[in-house]
Amino acid sequence: MIDQINAILPQTQCRQCGFQGCRPYAEAIVSGAADINQCPPGGDEGIIELAQLLGVNPKPLNAHNGQHKPKSVAFIIEQDCIGCVKCIAACPVDAILGAAKFMHTVIASECTGCELCVAPCPVDCIILQPLPAPIECEPMLIKAQKVAQAQRAKRRYDARCLRKENESLEKTERSKQKRAALEMMKSKKQG
Ligand code: SF4
Ligand code: SF4
Ligand code: SF4
Repeated sequence: MIDQINAILPQTQCRQCGFQGCRPYAEAIVSGAADINQCPPGGDEGIIELAQLLGVNPKPLNAHNGQHKPKSVAFIIEQDCIGCVKCIAACPVDAILGAAKFMHTVIASECTGCELCVAPCPVDCIILQPLPAPIECEPMLIKAQKVAQAQRAKRRYDARCLRKENESLEKTERSKQKRAALEMMKSKKQG
């Protein structure tokens, strides 16, 4: 059920639902800790799909979580960027390229428009630009495009989570080895 709910969620990974990402929100719905109307990017369409899946009545989006907005992407005013790397640390789908003390840029095709990079920027050089309205085409085609984008964002988010987990494990292991080496040096000195 968690996977089915997660597949409906837009994978923007914006945390407006009050959880750390789409999957944690899906888990909270299943456990009863969250309602179906807490995802602004999913909007009414998403709430209806969740209601159908769960066999409950749809309800309006909870205004406390935000408003449904047209999709947008982040843009960095590159001449103002000081290369502090804070936006890279904040991006849940690794959609920003850059290195310390160098100009950063957004990979527009991978940006979900989650806005999480905006607040950490110390020089306010990240802005959100609305995407042009999709060209009139079959609703089925629009839906298929949305699903494909969500799947792509999910893959990038999952890969980032895995990398972060590995980095944290490596850090713990390094600290453990350092502590063990210090203990050994101490006991040699005492002995
Ligand atoms: S898109 Fe944002 S608000 Fe919606 S479930 Fe995902 S993290 Fe939560
Ligand atoms: S670049 Fe900014 S708005 Fe785009 S996905 Fe990353 S954090 Fe979100
Ligand atoms: S947070 Fe702002 S200043 Fe820092 S690297 Fe990102 S865009 Fe540049």
